[in-house]
Amino acid sequence: TGGRRCRRLEGDAARAVLRGADTLLFDCDGVLWRGEAALSGAPAALGRLAASGKRLCYVTNNSSRTRVAYTEKLRRLGFPPAEPRHVFGSAFCAARYLRQALPDGAAAFVLGSPALSAELDAAGIPHLGPGPAALPGPAPADWAQAPLEPAVRAVLVGFDEHFSYAKLCQALRYLLRDPGCLLVGTNRDNRLPLEGGSAIPGTGCLVKAVETAAEREAFIVGKPNRYIFDCVASEFDIDPARTIMVGDRLDTDILMGNTCGLTTLLTLTGVSTLEEVRGHQESDCPARQSLVPDYYVDSIADLLPALED
Ligand code: PLP
Ligand code: CA
Repeated sequence: TGGRRCRRLEGDAARAVLRGADTLLFDCDGVLWRGEAALSGAPAALGRLAASGKRLCYVTNNSSRTRVAYTEKLRRLGFPPAEPRHVFGSAFCAARYLRQALPDGAAAFVLGSPALSAELDAAGIPHLGPGPAALPGPAPADWAQAPLEPAVRAVLVGFDEHFSYAKLCQALRYLLRDPGCLLVGTNRDNRLPLEGGSAIPGTGCLVKAVETAAEREAFIVGKPNRYIFDCVASEFDIDPARTIMVGDRLDTDILMGNTCGLTTLLTLTGVSTLEEVRGHQESDCPARQSLVPDYYVDSIADLLPALED
């Protein structure tokens, strides 16, 4: 990909890049906020972008919130008002994918959060939350005995705090019963970083467990897969050449943006570092080149000076 530069976005270049864009796609955690706290200057920067007429969309791999819940969080943290249709979470996009891919009346067996169920309800996809009745009992002899719902034609794996061996058994049984049963994962994030260098296992670990048992690969809805960008492009008139993807992770946000022909901007308030970028730049492996962003900022608050007229 012709050697991306990863230059700091500032001064006249920042003004020109922003002038040339009509849409910005924002990753959320690590870019706009960390946990429940807005990153300093982020609400002001987005307020300025919205006031200057830019379309702002939110593209997140987190499957544990609905579109509506994101608009409420944005409002609570002082960001400019967003409508649900501007939010592309992996729960919403997974429901949209199943609506396209499943025949009418077919159901999904879901490992995930209440938000994932809510998005499936909104899309009209019948689904089995793995409530106790849908799962085998605690003894090994029960594991192959729980009833299977005849209408299930997909297994969907999202962030599930209550992931269990019994759920994994049931998912495998659906996938073995019907070779045409879809296997869909919301995202492959391996870890969710916590303050102080700690982390918790991400949805990628759960998707891998089901893939390993089933001996097949899941279709992934979230970044870096372009499906989540295609969802944005199907709802809005998006010109990739006039769209900026802003993210904190090279292997999800930046890779998706580069793959989709967007201008990519890394912010250093989250997971990835400039040292990692430099490592990729020095490698001549094309796969690593596609992890290099066009630009970086320390924080999206650094865009503020370029937005003053
Ligand atoms: N998945 C889960 C369950 C999360 O909690 C998070 C971040 O909080 C993410 C994924 C990553 O989200 P994003 O794509 O907004 O960085
Ligand atoms: Ca992020």
